[in-house]
Amino acid sequence: MKRVYLAADLADAQIAPDWLGMRGIKARVFNTHATGGLGELAATQIWPEVRMDDDADAEQAVQLLKEIHSADAAGSKLCPQCGEENPGNFLSCWHCGQALS
Ligand SMILES: [Zn+2]
Repeated sequence: MKRVYLAADLADAQIAPDWLGMRGIKARVFNTHATGGLGELAATQIWPEVRMDDDADAEQAVQLLKEIHSADAAGSKLCPQCGEENPGNFLSCWHCGQALS
């Protein structure tokens, strides 16, 4: 259960397992309910984490996750269903859930 990504928020964390899953790598988000500890725990202890199901995939996962973040620079996508603007690295619309191409 190696940690491959520490996300600043839950929405950011949930992109990673989708992105990796499309490439055949299983990962899960942990700490999804830890924000209640804010103020008692260090901020980095409550951030959502993405951990590997199989640690053998960790190195490849880290590489793929770097691609997500370099895709940020690629701009935004408009949702074909509702027209909302989504960051270029989103796989589905934040507003209506429509898959983005
Ligand atoms: Zn939409």
